Amino acid sequence: MDRQHRRLAGECADLRERLAQTEDRVEQLQNTLQAVARETGIASVTHPCRRCERSLLLVRDGQLYCPNCRYGRTV
Ligand SMILES: [Zn+2]
Repeated sequence: MDRQHRRLAGECADLRERLAQTEDRVEQLQNTLQAVARETGIASVTHPCRRCERSLLLVRDGQLYCPNCRYGRTV
């Protein structure tokens, strides 16, 4: 293997490691989010906000809303 191939293989291994860490982190956040939602009376966490795409929409008291951009509407 020449130097460039070794460098690419190293970068690839780094990316795989970072991806695995990110997947673990996402799973931890999903579990935490579900628990927090249950404890705060949020009925469900749905699809991404179409307006800002920076958060998932929440459903509480029959209202769908985005906690990031405050977009909201009645379900
Ligand atoms: Zn939004």
